[in-house]
Order: sequence, then C-alpha cells, then structure tokens
Amino acid sequence: MKAVQIMAPEQLKVIEMEKPAVDKKDHVLVRMTAAGICGSDVGIYHGSNAAATYPRIIGHEMVGRVEVVGEAVTGLKVGDRVIINQVTSCGECYPCRIGRGNVCDHLAVRGVHIDGGYREFIVVPESDCYLLPDSLSDEEAVMIEPTTIAIQSCSRAELGKDDMLLILGAGALGSTILKVAREICDHIIVADIVDGKLEEAKKNGAEHTINVLTEDLEEKVREYTGGHGSTVSIDASGTRDSLLKLLTVTGNAGRVMVMGFSTAPAEINQFLITSKELDVRGSRLQNKKFGEAIELIKAGKLDLSGSVSHTFPFTKAQEAFDFIDSRDPSIRKIVLTFDNPV
Ligand code: MN
Repeated sequence: MKAVQIMAPEQLKVIEMEKPAVDKKDHVLVRMTAAGICGSDVGIYHGSNAAATYPRIIGHEMVGRVEVVGEAVTGLKVGDRVIINQVTSCGECYPCRIGRGNVCDHLAVRGVHIDGGYREFIVVPESDCYLLPDSLSDEEAVMIEPTTIAIQSCSRAELGKDDMLLILGAGALGSTILKVAREICDHIIVADIVDGKLEEAKKNGAEHTINVLTEDLEEKVREYTGGHGSTVSIDASGTRDSLLKLLTVTGNAGRVMVMGFSTAPAEINQFLITSKELDVRGSRLQNKKFGEAIELIKAGKLDLSGSVSHTFPFTKAQEAFDFIDSRDPSIRKIVLTFDNPV
C-alpha cells in the first residue's frame, strides 16, 4: 500500500509499505477514505512542531471504512464508516487514572508521535473508532476532529449558560470554538484583526465582535460585559502577548484557557492572576470527545457542511501542502481523498 511520509522537515515522500494486518482480537482494519490536513500537519512538514518525530506518516483527522474486524470485536462490522481517535494513552499513569488520558505521561498521538492516517490502511483498536452519522460525507466528517478540540476547551473552561465568553482569534480554531460554545452560552464576544472573519463570527452567533487593530480590547470587553470583564476567555490566537491580554480583560474569579504550542517565553504579570484569583488552564487535544461531537451533529446543533474548500488525492499530498503554503484566501479545510472502490 501507499503512504505519505515526512522523512525529515520539508521532505515529503509517497512511499510503498506493507499493508497492516489485524493482529489483536479487539482491533479492526480500516480502509482510509478521507484525511484532513491540519495546521499541525503543516507544522510537522515544515519542522516547526516540537512534539513530532521523524520519519512520520502524518495525518490525525482520519476517516475510513472498516474492512476487517478482529474476532473479539462486538461494536463494529465490515463496511461501517468511522472516524478514528488520534489519542493513544497508557491507562496506568496519574493522568490516565484520573480520566485524563489526553495528557497521558506516555501520550502517543497518531500522526505525531506514531504513524497516522495518510495511508491506505490502518489497524486500530475498536474502541478508537466512532461511527459516523449518515448525514455527513467522509470528507466533511474529518471536521469532527477539530470540533472535538473545541469541545475540549469549553469543557476544560467549565463553560456555562451564564458565562460571558471571550474568544480571541476567529481562525479555524476560534470559529469552531464559537460553533460549539454558542450551544452552551448566550454571551459570546469574538476578537480578531480581520473584519471579514468578525462578520462571519457575528453570523455564527457572536453577540459582539472586536477588531483589536482598530478598537481597544480592554475597553470594549468591559463595555460588553457590564463592566465586569469576561468570565471565561479562550486564547485561539496563541500570539506572544495574547495571554497577557486575556489575563487583563478577564474579570474576577474568571477562567483563562491556553491552547498555544509556542515555546517562546511570554511576559505576564502575577498580580493579574492573584488579585482576580483567575484559573489559568491548558487545553490539549481532546479527551474522548468524539461521541459528544457526533451527538451535536445528529441533533442538528452543529453544521459542518461547507467547511471543506478543497480535496486532493492523497498521493498528491505535496501539491496540497504547496497550495496551503500559497496562503490562497479560498483555503478553509483541505482534505486528502483515497481512490477506493466502495
Ligand atoms: Mn486537527
């Protein structure tokens, strides 16, 4: 079978490798049908992802059809359409024991630390597969994975109905967080530097928007929250000064969510956290949130249609990554497809 491997930064190759076999009773063989390209895949390709190791078959937004089931598999049958959980954990360390396997001490993410889904076939445990609703195409279904990341951040923030939420950044992550958050909370402010993205955020349920290039973030957040400040702030921008900004605009007893992967030091000040008794929390990957994302879709509360802007056959991955580097404004989600007889 063929696979897309990043041999080393900037070196992408389509390789030939042996098709995997179901060697454990509770595992299944999945024939890949669609795999999303995420910002983190682009980072591994360019060598800017600190977590990745090489050579690596990348791709963690993995959709396919079950082709072979192990003898102990009970919940899946041949032909089932599934999305695959990218997080694998040991089940025994402290985070795993308290139910937080997404930050397992021995965390292995498919497509980052171990091989992922840019290949024709993958073998995974049955428990890592989630059945897709019929309403979604395989290409659209890759968007379930980014949705789980958004659900994770809202869950870590303990977002509630009465919260006054500020989302900083209206890109791929911020706009997905908005779609998830509006099902939970009524008061959402979105801040960005691009008017077009802010207009879209308004259409998608933001109560207020702030262009931080032309408006004062602190003043506007105070105005839109009756003087208190946001009660929850989520950083979906990850810039050098974004954490300091959010510590400043979040009100007393609020929660500030950090999701960035930069290892560069950022300046903050202790008094902002101490004086307001803020909770500053990280949100990484997702903790078994696929079921929740699929339930939102089934209930008609989350519409993923129109999210995919381009598709490329997976053997043309180089072209797809080059196209992403062109920063063409039409780019939203790009999906690799697999020419499979169904
Ligand atoms: Mn992703």
